[in-house]
Amino acid sequence: MTCCDCKKNIGFREQQDSLEKYGVALCERHSRLIDKIRETNNTPLEAVQLYYALKEAGANPMLEWWDGHKSIDIAISRVKLNIELETEYQMITHEQAINDLEDAMHSFKNGFTTIRVPSIVVRYYLADTVRNILGIMEGLKANIKVI
Ligand SMILES: [Zn+2]
Repeated sequence: MTCCDCKKNIGFREQQDSLEKYGVALCERHSRLIDKIRETNNTPLEAVQLYYALKEAGANPMLEWWDGHKSIDIAISRVKLNIELETEYQMITHEQAINDLEDAMHSFKNGFTTIRVPSIVVRYYLADTVRNILGIMEGLKANIKVI
């Protein structure tokens, strides 16, 4: 098996460890890198899984991208798409809801579209989630004027 990130061949042990941890096969170096990103940004596990699935699909995603305002779970800058994973949507408070709306306003002002993906759809419907995001990207691409 190879690392999902650098395509380097990885051993059985590395593969087992990273699959257990992330559900994604990663070499030791990339496991450490992901650990560090998650530690710094409190990145949900599903964001890591979706990031690699989108990468595999050729979407050129970026994990924990700083937009000058906040860190975005996954950004696809080519079509100005921000993807935020929602992990606690059942317990959303009114403060959180208005903060989300304000974040959406900021990103729209910068020409970015933000979609919120519940983490359970990544867990249970990863392929469908990726297919839908690729569709959204196509839609956005059609709307971006070529200069
Ligand atoms: Zn690697």
